[in-house]
Amino acid sequence: SGNYDVIIIGAGPIGLACGIEAKKSGLSYVIIDKGCLVNSLYNYPLNMTFFSTSEKLEIGDVPFISHGAKPNRTEALEYYRRVASSWQLELKLYEEVVSVDPSNAGYRISTSKGSYDSKTIIIATGFYDLPYLMHVEGEELPKVKHYYDEPHPYFDQNLAVVGAANSAIDVALETYRKGAHVTMVIREDKISDSVKYWVKPDAENRIKEGSIKAYFNSSITSIRADEIDIESPEGHITIPNDFVLAMTGYRPNFELLKSIGIELQKDEMQTPVYNEETNETNVKNVYLAGVICGGLKTNKWFIENSRVHAELIIKDIKNKLS
Ligand code: FAD
Repeated sequence: SGNYDVIIIGAGPIGLACGIEAKKSGLSYVIIDKGCLVNSLYNYPLNMTFFSTSEKLEIGDVPFISHGAKPNRTEALEYYRRVASSWQLELKLYEEVVSVDPSNAGYRISTSKGSYDSKTIIIATGFYDLPYLMHVEGEELPKVKHYYDEPHPYFDQNLAVVGAANSAIDVALETYRKGAHVTMVIREDKISDSVKYWVKPDAENRIKEGSIKAYFNSSITSIRADEIDIESPEGHITIPNDFVLAMTGYRPNFELLKSIGIELQKDEMQTPVYNEETNETNVKNVYLAGVICGGLKTNKWFIENSRVHAELIIKDIKNKLS
């Protein structure tokens, strides 16, 4: 149903920015998201603070006023709700795009709820909804989480934190300070060099003094209701466990890109192929916007530096359709 000029997949900040530009240009459009508005931001840790100052997160000329220079999650959610309602954006939420196929009109987009035709497509699906799994027995238990919410539920609980990058370290330190009994299970032989330089010594010292127990060169091999098995240089061990926070990272949905015919570079980062002047991919009239443009290099593009994709893309679409 519906024949649009452009369909935008993903209602993250950059998908919203694309919708605003489409509206400004008088194009018919809709933004479709599998979850809620700015689903990725909704899934951030409750206590997170952005590293960007609020004006760098602004889209559609709506001012972003926050209490501090750097806004927190609650303020950002409020802001993007405000943007969506003041621009009266056309949104379809809780509707997952499952396939995109060529059709007479251009493309046929099939979702969990129906299908739409569109002349052009913008993919702004980010990377935050597919966690890297550990592929171990018990991973499907409800006590195993790939998104961290807040420290309170872990007070006086035996908590295993998997990973050694920024999010794992932040989670380990925050939960330890709120009374969790924290064990880190780390595949590498040390904490990642990418950990923020002002946080790293704090983590290293807590591990050294034994406040946080860490198993290096180790991985979880099995998870049960009240214990976990760890394979470590000391051999196989079993420890009591109430919760596992698997901070193992997230990855873009390459399967969707490949199914559309979008080529990925043969480099380690599997960077999708697109024209940097227009953001059009090797598939005609299919564009990429936002963090998805970086492939596995998920820190290359963020809100601050990819807001501009919206203008580039809509300008190109406008030229083609007029
Ligand atoms: P996303 O915001 O990830 O949006 C993608 C959307 O696509 C999601 O809503 C998802 O549900 C939807 N989607 C995916 N697949 C489908 C499908 N098949 N069908 C329908 N919908 C789909 N950036 C900054 O600029 N400043 C910061 O301070 C900052 N802090 C951050 C802190 C944390 C903890 C994290 C994890 C990221 C941070 N970032 C920051 C990065 C920023 O969040 C991302 O760059 C930004 O969300 C990217 O926007 P996006 O619109 O490209 O993708």
